[in-house]
Formats: sequence, structure tokens, C-alpha cells
Amino acid sequence: MISAAQYDNNIDLFPERFRKIIFFTGAGMSAESGIPTYRGEGGVWHQYRWDEYACQEAFEHHPEKVLEFHRIRREKIGECEPHEGHLVIARLEKKYWRLQNIQVITQNIDGLHQRAGTKNVTELHGSIWKYRCDPCQKLFSIQQGESGIDKCPLCKKWVRPHIVWFGDYLDPDILYRVGNEIRRCDLFISVGTSGTVWPAAGFHKLASQSGALCIEINPEETENSGYFRHTFRERAGSSLSKLFGKYI
Ligand code: NAD
Repeated sequence: MISAAQYDNNIDLFPERFRKIIFFTGAGMSAESGIPTYRGEGGVWHQYRWDEYACQEAFEHHPEKVLEFHRIRREKIGECEPHEGHLVIARLEKKYWRLQNIQVITQNIDGLHQRAGTKNVTELHGSIWKYRCDPCQKLFSIQQGESGIDKCPLCKKWVRPHIVWFGDYLDPDILYRVGNEIRRCDLFISVGTSGTVWPAAGFHKLASQSGALCIEINPEETENSGYFRHTFRERAGSSLSKLFGKYI
């Protein structure tokens, strides 16, 4: 049942009240930083065909083209800055670090949570700031401003962006861990996700069935809105500030 939520003292989200707080974020979380959402206007897959740039087959046929595409995407992402919503979460984590009860689980690959200062971030879909060499099973990180690598320094084969592309499976270890964490949380806040990409689309249901207080922040209604006790039809930055600004 959706409630028309108000920013008043009826919703007491004082972090010390909770055993575990999960912020589950999607592309809408990064929209205010200037990174287009997946389905929204200006979304990258409206402009480019994913089967030419974002699947293993494309990489095997045209590794240079795929790597160049991701290099350009990364440069654009590098020009964007975390917004107040990212900063609110980072400050909460810093202030309540003794409780160790705050965690971000994100579908985003942009690294903005970490750039805002959040440490406890699980990236479900990988990161545009990492490459991997599948034959060597090595992971390579690059920093903002660096152009990246094409070939593995060890075996000299092409490295691929460490991102869950179309047709890839999510890392089962990460999924297992995330499932356990969601079952243990008692506050689940979904921010800026349409909740249509599986398995992430089932997380709110898992949280709700495990008894967590579930909150949705999204300017638009989603298919899952009915699972949330409170829904805030607002942008991520202002909504997170109103809900948590008083605790940091
Ligand atoms: P989505 O595009 O399906 O949904 C985005 C949601 O954000 C929409 O429901 C929209 O109403 C909402 N939204 C838009 N502006 C918002 C704002 N200012 N504040 C709060 N919400 C806002 O994205 P998704 O659910 O994350 O799933 C799409 C997939 O695309 C994911 O797998 C994700 O990895 C990937 N993706 C990532 C990025 C990124 O890393 N920044 C960007 C685009 C897509």
C-alpha cells in the first residue's frame, strides 16, 4: 500500500534505530550528476546499439571498438561530480561508522558513491573504472584522468571492461552475499531505479518479506511502488537530504 509520504517527524529514520540500512541505487541516482538513465531521454542505448558495444560477442569481434566506446563513456563520467544525495549517504556512513550498519548496493557502474566518500559499496554490475583479463583472472583498476589499458600486462591479450554486459551473468558470490545482507536489513531505501532489471528487480520484495521498512525515492511511479511503505515522488538529491540531512 503506497502512502503519500511527508517529510515530517512521522518517519523517524535515525540511523541508530536500525540494525542494517541498505541504500539500493540505480541509474536515477546518477541522473542529477549528469549521467543519463537507461530508459530515459538521452539514454546511451537510444544512441548506440548495445549489441555492437556492450556484449561479449561484440568484444570478441571488435575489441578495439568496444574498448574505445567504454573509454569515451568513462571520460564523460569522469567529468561528472557526485551530488548532494551521494554526499548525504557518504556522511551518514562516516558519522555512524561505529555501527557499521550502512551499506550501498548499486546497479551503477560509474563509481560516484565511492567518489563521494562511501566505503561500503557493492557494485552489482561492475565498474567502468575496472578492466579484467579473463584468461589470467586478474582485475585492473584505473583512476580518473588515466586513459586505461587495452592489453593485459601479463598475457598480452585484450582486457575487457569489468561490467555486466547484456547476456552476462552476475557474479554468484556477490548475489549470494547481497541476498543475505538484504534479508538482514531492517531499512531498505530504493533510490532511482525502475526495478525492471533482474535479479535486482526482486530485492525490494526480499527486503519487504524479511520485515524491513521499505522506502522508494523516484519522481515516477514504478512497477514495484506497491511494495514500499513510503514512496517519495522526488529527485534523489533533495529527497535524501530531507530524510537524512538532520542526522548528519
Ligand atoms: P532505469 O533507467 O531503468 O531507471 C531509472 C529510474 O530512475 C527511473 O525509474 C526514473 O524515474 C528514475 N529517476 C530519474 N531521475 C531521477 C532522479 N533525479 N532521482 C531519482 N530517481 C530518478 O535504471 P536502473 O533501474 O538502474 O536499471 C538500468 C540498468 O542500467 C542498470 O543495470 C544499471 O546498471 C545501468 N545503468 C547505469 C548507469 C550508471 O552507472 N550511472 C546509467 C544508466 C544505466
